[in-house]
Amino acid sequence: MMTKKKMDVIVIGGGASGMMAAIAAAREGCRVLILEHMDEPGRKILATGNGRCNFTNAAQGCECYRGTTPAFVLPALKKFGWKDVVDFFEELGVWARQREGYYYPRSMQASAIRQGLLSELKRRKVQVECGIGIRNIKKERTGFVIEAKNGDYYGSACILAAGGKASPKSGSDGSGYIYAEKLGHSCIQPLPALVPLLTDAKWNRITAGVRGEARITLYVRGKTAASDSGEVQFTDYGLSGIPVFQVSRYASRALYEGEDVRVQLDLMADVEEEALFQRLISCANAHPFTSWKELLSGMINSKLSEALCGLVKGAGGIPGEMTKEGKRKTALELSRLMKRLTCSVTGTKTFQQAQVTAGGVDTAQIDSSTMGSKLVNGLYFAGEIMDIDGICGGYNLHWAWASGQRAGKSAAEYVKKG
Ligand SMILES: Cc1cc2nc3c(=O)[nH]c(=O)nc-3n(C[C@H](O)[C@H](O)[C@H](O)COP(=O)(O)OP(=O)(O)OC[C@H]3O[C@@H](n4cnc5c(N)ncnc54)[C@H](O)[C@@H]3O)c2cc1C
Repeated sequence: MMTKKKMDVIVIGGGASGMMAAIAAAREGCRVLILEHMDEPGRKILATGNGRCNFTNAAQGCECYRGTTPAFVLPALKKFGWKDVVDFFEELGVWARQREGYYYPRSMQASAIRQGLLSELKRRKVQVECGIGIRNIKKERTGFVIEAKNGDYYGSACILAAGGKASPKSGSDGSGYIYAEKLGHSCIQPLPALVPLLTDAKWNRITAGVRGEARITLYVRGKTAASDSGEVQFTDYGLSGIPVFQVSRYASRALYEGEDVRVQLDLMADVEEEALFQRLISCANAHPFTSWKELLSGMINSKLSEALCGLVKGAGGIPGEMTKEGKRKTALELSRLMKRLTCSVTGTKTFQQAQVTAGGVDTAQIDSSTMGSKLVNGLYFAGEIMDIDGICGGYNLHWAWASGQRAGKSAAEYVKKG
Protein backbone atom coordinates (compact mmCIF):
# COMPACT_ATOMS: atom_id res chain seq x y z
CA MET A 1 0.00 0.00 0.00
CA MET A 2 1.40 3.40 -0.91
CA THR A 3 2.42 5.98 1.71
CA LYS A 4 -0.12 8.78 1.40
CA LYS A 5 1.30 11.77 3.19
CA LYS A 6 4.42 12.68 5.07
CA MET A 7 3.59 15.06 7.89
CA ASP A 8 5.51 16.54 10.81
CA VAL A 9 2.84 15.69 13.37
CA ILE A 10 -0.09 13.31 13.10
CA VAL A 11 -2.81 13.63 15.71
CA ILE A 12 -5.03 10.59 16.26
CA GLY A 13 -8.47 11.87 17.27
CA GLY A 14 -10.12 15.19 16.52
CA GLY A 15 -11.73 15.81 19.91
CA ALA A 16 -11.05 18.70 22.28
CA SER A 17 -7.49 17.62 23.13
CA GLY A 18 -6.60 16.58 19.57
CA MET A 19 -7.72 19.88 18.07
CA MET A 20 -5.86 21.83 20.75
CA ALA A 21 -2.70 19.75 20.19
CA ALA A 22 -2.93 20.24 16.43
CA ILE A 23 -3.32 24.02 16.81
CA ALA A 24 -0.37 24.21 19.22
CA ALA A 25 1.89 22.24 16.87
CA ALA A 26 0.75 24.20 13.79
CA ARG A 27 1.40 27.50 15.58
CA GLU A 28 5.01 26.33 15.93
CA GLY A 29 5.19 25.95 12.14
CA CYS A 30 4.58 22.21 11.82
CA ARG A 31 2.63 20.49 9.06
CA VAL A 32 -0.12 18.81 11.03
CA LEU A 33 -2.73 16.21 10.14
CA ILE A 34 -5.65 15.10 12.30
CA LEU A 35 -7.02 11.62 11.65
CA GLU A 36 -10.57 11.27 12.97
CA HIS A 37 -12.67 8.16 12.54
CA MET A 38 -16.04 9.88 12.92
CA ASP A 39 -17.46 11.88 10.05
CA GLU A 40 -16.69 15.19 11.78
CA PRO A 41 -14.34 16.39 14.51
CA GLY A 42 -15.38 17.58 17.98
CA ARG A 43 -18.70 15.76 18.28
CA LYS A 44 -18.42 15.37 22.03
CA ILE A 45 -17.82 19.08 22.59
CA LEU A 46 -21.37 19.74 21.36
CA ALA A 47 -22.82 17.57 24.14
CA THR A 48 -20.79 19.10 26.96
CA GLY A 49 -22.42 21.05 29.76
CA ASN A 50 -25.88 20.16 28.45
CA GLY A 51 -24.99 21.83 25.17
CA ARG A 52 -23.51 24.88 26.89
CA CYS A 53 -19.93 23.64 27.39
CA ASN A 54 -18.44 24.40 30.77
CA PHE A 55 -14.97 24.72 29.28
CA THR A 56 -12.81 25.63 32.26
CA ASN A 57 -12.92 26.66 35.91
CA ALA A 58 -11.11 29.38 37.84
CA ALA A 59 -10.52 27.12 40.84
CA GLN A 60 -7.70 24.83 39.81
CA GLY A 61 -5.49 22.43 41.75
CA CYS A 62 -4.59 18.77 41.72
CA GLU A 63 -7.48 18.09 44.16
CA CYS A 64 -9.81 18.70 41.17
CA TYR A 65 -8.23 15.81 39.27
CA ARG A 66 -8.13 12.11 39.98
CA GLY A 67 -6.09 9.18 38.78
CA THR A 68 -3.24 7.06 40.10
CA THR A 69 -1.13 10.24 40.37
CA PRO A 70 -3.30 13.39 40.30
CA ALA A 71 -0.22 15.64 40.67
CA PHE A 72 0.73 14.55 37.15
CA VAL A 73 -1.53 17.40 35.91
CA LEU A 74 0.37 20.18 37.68
CA PRO A 75 3.13 21.07 35.12
CA ALA A 76 0.55 21.27 32.30
CA LEU A 77 -1.82 23.33 34.47
CA LYS A 78 1.01 25.69 35.33
CA LYS A 79 1.85 26.25 31.66
CA PHE A 80 -1.77 26.52 30.52
CA GLY A 81 -4.06 27.63 33.32
CA TRP A 82 -7.70 28.69 33.21
CA LYS A 83 -6.80 32.29 32.24
CA ASP A 84 -4.75 30.98 29.32
CA VAL A 85 -7.74 28.91 28.21
CA VAL A 86 -10.11 31.89 28.43
CA ASP A 87 -7.59 34.09 26.53
CA PHE A 88 -7.06 31.36 23.94
CA PHE A 89 -10.77 31.23 23.13
CA GLU A 90 -11.15 35.02 23.27
CA GLU A 91 -8.41 35.18 20.65
CA LEU A 92 -10.41 32.75 18.52
CA GLY A 93 -13.40 35.08 18.85
CA VAL A 94 -15.27 33.12 21.54
CA TRP A 95 -16.30 35.37 24.38
CA ALA A 96 -16.61 33.80 27.78
CA ARG A 97 -19.00 34.27 30.67
CA GLN A 98 -18.54 32.89 34.13
CA ARG A 99 -20.74 31.93 37.04
CA GLU A 100 -18.97 31.39 40.32
CA GLY A 101 -15.77 30.58 38.42
CA TYR A 102 -17.39 28.12 35.97
CA TYR A 103 -16.64 29.32 32.43
CA TYR A 104 -18.99 28.98 29.45
CA PRO A 105 -19.07 30.59 26.02
CA ARG A 106 -21.03 33.84 26.26
CA SER A 107 -23.58 32.50 23.79
CA MET A 108 -24.06 29.49 26.12
CA GLN A 109 -23.68 27.34 23.01
CA ALA A 110 -21.06 24.58 22.94
CA SER A 111 -21.00 24.92 19.16
CA ALA A 112 -19.16 28.25 19.60
CA ILE A 113 -16.20 26.42 21.18
CA ARG A 114 -16.07 23.80 18.45
CA GLN A 115 -16.44 26.43 15.72
CA GLY A 116 -13.63 28.51 17.20
CA LEU A 117 -11.32 25.49 17.11
CA LEU A 118 -12.34 24.50 13.57
CA SER A 119 -11.71 28.03 12.27
CA GLU A 120 -8.27 28.10 13.87
CA LEU A 121 -7.40 24.68 12.40
CA LYS A 122 -8.32 26.07 9.00
CA ARG A 123 -6.37 29.29 9.51
CA ARG A 124 -3.30 27.27 10.54
CA LYS A 125 -3.75 24.95 7.54
CA VAL A 126 -4.12 21.85 9.69
CA GLN A 127 -5.41 19.02 7.54
CA VAL A 128 -8.34 17.12 8.97
CA GLU A 129 -9.28 13.76 7.50
CA CYS A 130 -12.51 12.25 8.81
CA GLY A 131 -14.01 8.78 8.49
CA ILE A 132 -10.52 7.27 8.72
CA GLY A 133 -10.36 3.65 9.85
CA ILE A 134 -6.96 3.16 11.45
CA ARG A 135 -5.70 -0.44 11.47
CA ASN A 136 -2.36 -0.05 13.17
CA ILE A 137 0.24 2.47 14.33
CA LYS A 138 3.87 1.45 13.96
CA LYS A 139 7.00 3.17 15.16
CA GLU A 140 9.83 3.11 12.64
CA ARG A 141 13.31 4.57 12.93
CA THR A 142 12.37 8.02 11.61
CA GLY A 143 8.76 8.27 12.68
CA PHE A 144 5.34 6.68 12.75
CA VAL A 145 3.42 4.81 10.09
CA ILE A 146 -0.32 4.96 10.55
CA GLU A 147 -1.89 2.16 8.58
CA ALA A 148 -5.42 3.04 7.57
CA LYS A 149 -7.98 1.40 5.34
CA ASN A 150 -7.40 4.04 2.67
CA GLY A 151 -3.59 3.92 2.77
CA ASP A 152 -0.67 4.66 5.06
CA TYR A 153 0.19 7.99 6.67
CA TYR A 154 3.63 8.94 7.87
CA GLY A 155 4.42 11.38 10.68
CA SER A 156 7.69 12.32 12.36
CA ALA A 157 5.75 12.65 15.63
CA CYS A 158 2.42 11.18 16.70
CA ILE A 159 -0.05 12.44 19.30
CA LEU A 160 -2.57 9.96 20.67
CA ALA A 161 -5.68 12.00 21.51
CA ALA A 162 -8.35 9.37 20.93
CA GLY A 163 -10.15 9.91 24.25
CA GLY A 164 -11.35 7.17 26.58
CA LYS A 165 -14.49 5.05 26.48
CA ALA A 166 -17.11 7.46 27.81
CA SER A 167 -19.98 8.34 25.50
CA PRO A 168 -18.79 6.07 22.65
CA LYS A 169 -21.44 7.47 20.32
CA SER A 170 -19.28 10.60 20.07
CA GLY A 171 -16.36 8.51 18.81
CA SER A 172 -14.35 7.55 21.88
CA ASP A 173 -14.61 3.78 21.70
CA GLY A 174 -11.42 2.90 23.58
CA SER A 175 -9.40 2.13 20.44
CA GLY A 176 -6.74 4.63 21.56
CA TYR A 177 -5.79 2.27 24.41
CA ILE A 178 -5.14 -0.52 21.90
CA TYR A 179 -2.70 1.68 19.94
CA ALA A 180 -0.99 2.79 23.15
CA GLU A 181 -0.61 -0.81 24.29
CA LYS A 182 0.71 -1.94 20.92
CA LEU A 183 3.33 0.79 21.21
CA GLY A 184 4.41 -0.64 24.56
CA HIS A 185 2.35 1.38 27.05
CA SER A 186 0.23 -0.10 29.80
CA CYS A 187 -3.23 1.05 30.84
CA ILE A 188 -5.00 1.30 34.16
CA GLN A 189 -8.37 -0.45 33.74
CA PRO A 190 -10.73 2.15 32.18
CA LEU A 191 -13.99 2.48 34.13
CA PRO A 192 -17.04 4.75 33.85
CA ALA A 193 -16.88 7.94 35.94
CA LEU A 194 -19.16 10.96 36.40
CA VAL A 195 -21.91 8.38 36.05
CA PRO A 196 -25.15 7.49 37.90
CA LEU A 197 -25.06 4.74 40.55
CA LEU A 198 -27.23 1.64 40.66
CA THR A 199 -28.49 0.76 44.12
CA ASP A 200 -30.46 -2.07 45.71
CA ALA A 201 -32.70 0.25 47.78
CA LYS A 202 -36.23 -1.04 48.02
CA TRP A 203 -37.43 2.57 48.18
CA ASN A 204 -36.16 3.37 44.64
CA ARG A 205 -39.62 2.70 43.23
CA ILE A 206 -41.22 5.18 45.65
CA THR A 207 -38.67 7.98 45.41
CA ALA A 208 -38.09 7.88 41.62
CA GLY A 209 -38.34 11.39 40.23
CA VAL A 210 -37.47 13.25 43.44
CA ARG A 211 -34.70 15.85 43.33
CA GLY A 212 -33.40 17.28 46.54
CA GLU A 213 -30.39 18.72 48.33
CA ALA A 214 -28.41 16.07 50.17
CA ARG A 215 -24.95 15.14 51.29
CA ILE A 216 -23.80 11.84 49.84
CA THR A 217 -21.02 9.78 51.38
CA LEU A 218 -19.58 6.75 49.65
CA TYR A 219 -18.24 3.94 51.82
CA VAL A 220 -15.91 1.26 50.56
CA ARG A 221 -15.48 -1.67 52.95
CA GLY A 222 -17.08 0.53 55.62
CA LYS A 223 -14.59 3.39 55.21
CA THR A 224 -15.39 6.82 53.78
CA ALA A 225 -14.08 6.95 50.19
CA ALA A 226 -15.65 10.21 48.98
CA SER A 227 -18.33 12.70 49.87
CA ASP A 228 -20.14 15.55 48.13
CA SER A 229 -23.22 17.77 48.47
CA GLY A 230 -25.78 19.15 46.08
CA GLU A 231 -28.91 18.19 44.23
CA VAL A 232 -29.35 14.41 44.25
CA GLN A 233 -31.75 12.87 41.74
CA PHE A 234 -33.58 9.76 42.90
CA THR A 235 -34.36 7.35 40.07
CA ASP A 236 -35.97 3.93 39.67
CA TYR A 237 -32.51 2.34 39.31
CA GLY A 238 -30.64 4.33 41.98
CA LEU A 239 -29.10 7.78 42.26
CA SER A 240 -27.95 10.47 39.86
CA GLY A 241 -27.07 14.17 39.90
CA ILE A 242 -23.80 16.05 40.26
CA PRO A 243 -22.87 14.99 43.84
CA VAL A 244 -23.47 11.37 42.82
CA PHE A 245 -21.28 11.83 39.72
CA GLN A 246 -18.53 13.30 41.88
CA VAL A 247 -18.24 10.18 44.04
CA SER A 248 -18.96 7.69 41.24
CA ARG A 249 -15.39 7.04 40.09
CA TYR A 250 -14.56 5.62 43.53
CA ALA A 251 -17.61 3.37 43.36
CA SER A 252 -16.61 2.18 39.88
CA ARG A 253 -13.09 1.30 40.97
CA ALA A 254 -14.15 -0.39 44.22
CA LEU A 255 -16.87 -2.43 42.53
CA TYR A 256 -14.40 -3.47 39.83
CA GLU A 257 -12.11 -4.67 42.62
CA GLY A 258 -14.97 -6.64 44.18
CA GLU A 259 -15.34 -4.44 47.26
CA ASP A 260 -18.49 -3.79 49.27
CA VAL A 261 -19.76 -0.30 48.32
CA ARG A 262 -22.46 1.66 50.09
CA VAL A 263 -23.85 5.16 49.95
CA GLN A 264 -25.28 7.16 52.78
CA LEU A 265 -27.53 10.16 52.22
CA ASP A 266 -27.91 13.01 54.65
CA LEU A 267 -31.23 14.54 53.64
CA MET A 268 -30.97 17.33 56.23
CA ALA A 269 -27.28 18.19 56.17
CA ASP A 270 -27.79 21.58 57.81
CA VAL A 271 -29.62 20.19 60.87
CA GLU A 272 -28.21 18.04 63.67
CA GLU A 273 -29.83 14.64 64.26
CA GLU A 274 -30.78 15.58 67.83
CA ALA A 275 -32.52 18.76 66.61
CA LEU A 276 -34.46 16.72 64.02
CA PHE A 277 -35.54 14.29 66.70
CA GLN A 278 -36.68 17.08 69.03
CA ARG A 279 -38.65 18.74 66.25
CA LEU A 280 -40.27 15.51 65.15
CA ILE A 281 -41.26 14.45 68.67
CA SER A 282 -42.71 17.87 69.47
CA CYS A 283 -44.68 17.81 66.18
CA ALA A 284 -45.91 14.31 67.03
CA ASN A 285 -47.05 15.51 70.47
CA ALA A 286 -48.71 18.60 69.03
CA HIS A 287 -50.46 16.66 66.21
CA PRO A 288 -51.14 13.16 67.56
CA PHE A 289 -53.70 12.36 64.86
CA THR A 290 -51.49 13.38 61.92
CA SER A 291 -49.67 10.45 60.33
CA TRP A 292 -45.92 10.12 60.67
CA LYS A 293 -45.71 10.39 56.90
CA GLU A 294 -47.46 13.77 56.94
CA LEU A 295 -45.39 14.97 59.88
CA LEU A 296 -42.22 14.08 58.02
CA SER A 297 -43.49 15.71 54.83
CA GLY A 298 -43.20 19.04 56.62
CA MET A 299 -39.45 18.44 56.69
CA ILE A 300 -38.57 16.46 53.55
CA ASN A 301 -40.09 15.63 50.17
CA SER A 302 -43.33 13.64 50.61
CA LYS A 303 -42.06 10.69 48.54
CA LEU A 304 -38.95 10.49 50.68
CA SER A 305 -41.16 10.69 53.72
CA GLU A 306 -43.23 7.76 52.40
CA ALA A 307 -40.05 5.75 51.76
CA LEU A 308 -38.63 6.45 55.22
CA CYS A 309 -41.88 5.60 56.97
CA GLY A 310 -41.91 2.31 55.06
CA LEU A 311 -38.58 1.43 56.65
CA VAL A 312 -39.60 2.05 60.26
CA LYS A 313 -41.87 -0.27 62.20
CA GLY A 314 -44.90 1.62 63.39
CA ALA A 315 -44.30 4.69 61.23
CA GLY A 316 -47.19 3.68 58.97
CA GLY A 317 -49.68 4.89 61.56
CA ILE A 318 -50.28 7.90 63.76
CA PRO A 319 -48.35 8.95 66.90
CA GLY A 320 -51.59 9.19 68.92
CA GLU A 321 -51.97 5.40 68.85
CA MET A 322 -48.50 4.76 70.25
CA THR A 323 -47.03 4.54 73.71
CA LYS A 324 -44.66 7.30 74.79
CA GLU A 325 -41.73 4.94 74.31
CA GLY A 326 -43.01 3.75 70.91
CA LYS A 327 -43.33 7.37 69.75
CA ARG A 328 -39.83 8.16 70.96
CA LYS A 329 -38.33 5.14 69.18
CA THR A 330 -40.13 5.95 65.92
CA ALA A 331 -39.05 9.61 66.00
CA LEU A 332 -35.48 8.53 66.79
CA GLU A 333 -35.41 6.05 63.93
CA LEU A 334 -36.93 8.51 61.43
CA SER A 335 -34.42 11.22 62.45
CA ARG A 336 -31.61 8.72 62.03
CA LEU A 337 -32.82 7.81 58.55
CA MET A 338 -33.11 11.47 57.52
CA LYS A 339 -29.43 11.86 58.43
CA ARG A 340 -28.17 8.41 57.44
CA LEU A 341 -30.25 6.80 54.73
CA THR A 342 -28.04 3.95 53.54
CA CYS A 343 -28.09 1.45 50.69
CA SER A 344 -25.72 -0.82 48.79
CA VAL A 345 -24.29 0.25 45.46
CA THR A 346 -24.66 -2.66 43.06
CA GLY A 347 -23.12 -1.04 39.99
CA THR A 348 -22.87 2.06 37.86
CA LYS A 349 -24.50 2.99 34.59
CA THR A 350 -22.34 2.08 31.61
CA PHE A 351 -19.86 4.06 29.52
CA GLN A 352 -22.86 5.10 27.40
CA GLN A 353 -24.07 7.30 30.27
CA ALA A 354 -20.65 8.23 31.69
CA GLN A 355 -19.21 11.69 31.09
CA VAL A 356 -15.62 10.61 31.52
CA THR A 357 -13.31 7.61 31.90
CA ALA A 358 -11.39 6.85 35.08
CA GLY A 359 -8.20 5.01 34.18
CA GLY A 360 -6.32 4.94 30.90
CA VAL A 361 -2.70 5.14 29.79
CA ASP A 362 -0.44 4.86 32.84
CA THR A 363 0.94 8.33 33.57
CA ALA A 364 4.09 6.80 35.11
CA GLN A 365 5.18 6.14 31.52
CA ILE A 366 4.57 9.74 30.39
CA ASP A 367 6.67 12.86 31.04
CA SER A 368 4.31 15.29 32.82
CA SER A 369 6.04 18.40 31.48
CA THR A 370 5.92 17.39 27.78
CA MET A 371 3.19 14.72 27.61
CA GLY A 372 5.84 12.69 25.79
CA SER A 373 6.11 8.92 26.10
CA LYS A 374 9.01 7.76 28.24
CA LEU A 375 9.07 4.58 26.14
CA VAL A 376 8.73 5.72 22.53
CA ASN A 377 10.51 8.78 21.11
CA GLY A 378 8.19 11.13 19.26
CA LEU A 379 5.00 9.73 20.80
CA TYR A 380 2.80 12.12 22.83
CA PHE A 381 -0.54 11.88 24.63
CA ALA A 382 -3.35 14.38 25.09
CA GLY A 383 -6.61 14.38 27.05
CA GLU A 384 -8.81 11.70 28.48
CA ILE A 385 -6.81 8.79 27.04
CA MET A 386 -4.47 9.21 30.01
CA ASP A 387 -5.17 7.98 33.56
CA ILE A 388 -6.56 11.36 34.67
CA ASP A 389 -10.19 12.30 35.23
CA GLY A 390 -11.48 15.60 36.48
CA ILE A 391 -14.39 16.35 38.78
CA CYS A 392 -17.52 18.02 37.33
CA GLY A 393 -17.09 21.73 36.64
CA GLY A 394 -15.03 22.20 33.46
CA TYR A 395 -12.03 20.19 34.64
CA ASN A 396 -12.11 17.45 32.02
CA LEU A 397 -12.10 19.95 29.21
CA HIS A 398 -9.46 21.96 31.00
CA TRP A 399 -7.31 18.84 31.10
CA ALA A 400 -7.96 18.30 27.37
CA TRP A 401 -6.82 21.88 26.59
CA ALA A 402 -3.82 21.93 28.94
CA SER A 403 -2.46 18.50 28.01
CA GLY A 404 -3.27 19.09 24.33
CA GLN A 405 -1.37 22.36 24.33
CA ARG A 406 1.64 20.69 26.00
CA ALA A 407 1.58 17.69 23.66
CA GLY A 408 1.32 19.87 20.54
CA LYS A 409 4.13 22.22 21.54
CA SER A 410 6.40 19.38 22.67
CA ALA A 411 5.80 17.37 19.50
CA ALA A 412 6.71 20.47 17.45
CA GLU A 413 9.95 20.88 19.44
CA TYR A 414 10.76 17.23 18.87
CA VAL A 415 10.21 17.59 15.12
CA LYS A 416 12.34 20.77 14.96
CA LYS A 417 15.22 19.05 16.72
CA GLY A 418 15.11 16.49 13.89
C1 LIG B 1 -22.40 14.32 27.99
C2 LIG B 1 -21.05 14.88 28.39
C3 LIG B 1 -20.97 16.13 28.97
C4 LIG B 1 -19.72 16.65 29.34
N1 LIG B 1 -19.66 17.93 29.84
C5 LIG B 1 -18.46 18.44 30.18
C6 LIG B 1 -18.35 19.80 30.61
O1 LIG B 1 -19.33 20.57 30.60
N2 LIG B 1 -17.13 20.24 31.00
C7 LIG B 1 -16.02 19.44 30.95
O2 LIG B 1 -14.93 19.89 31.31
N3 LIG B 1 -16.08 18.17 30.48
C8 LIG B 1 -17.26 17.67 30.08
N4 LIG B 1 -17.31 16.40 29.59
C9 LIG B 1 -16.06 15.61 29.45
C10 LIG B 1 -15.25 16.11 28.23
O3 LIG B 1 -16.12 16.29 27.14
C11 LIG B 1 -14.14 15.13 27.84
O4 LIG B 1 -13.36 14.80 28.96
C12 LIG B 1 -13.26 15.71 26.76
O5 LIG B 1 -14.03 15.97 25.60
C13 LIG B 1 -12.12 14.75 26.40
O6 LIG B 1 -11.46 15.25 25.28
P1 LIG B 1 -10.53 14.27 24.43
O7 LIG B 1 -10.11 15.04 23.23
O8 LIG B 1 -9.46 13.73 25.28
O9 LIG B 1 -11.45 13.06 24.02
P2 LIG B 1 -12.76 13.06 23.11
O10 LIG B 1 -13.49 14.35 23.21
O11 LIG B 1 -13.49 11.83 23.44
O12 LIG B 1 -12.18 12.99 21.63
C14 LIG B 1 -11.56 11.85 21.12
C15 LIG B 1 -11.67 11.89 19.62
O13 LIG B 1 -10.89 10.83 19.07
C16 LIG B 1 -11.64 10.18 18.08
N5 LIG B 1 -11.15 8.80 17.99
C17 LIG B 1 -11.27 7.82 18.91
N6 LIG B 1 -10.69 6.70 18.47
C18 LIG B 1 -10.21 6.97 17.24
C19 LIG B 1 -9.53 6.18 16.28
N7 LIG B 1 -9.24 4.90 16.48
N8 LIG B 1 -9.19 6.77 15.09
C20 LIG B 1 -9.49 8.06 14.86
N9 LIG B 1 -10.16 8.84 15.73
C21 LIG B 1 -10.49 8.31 16.92
C22 LIG B 1 -13.06 10.28 18.55
O14 LIG B 1 -13.98 10.10 17.50
C23 LIG B 1 -13.09 11.69 19.13
O15 LIG B 1 -13.39 12.65 18.16
C24 LIG B 1 -18.55 15.87 29.17
C25 LIG B 1 -18.63 14.60 28.58
C26 LIG B 1 -19.87 14.11 28.18
C27 LIG B 1 -19.94 12.76 27.53
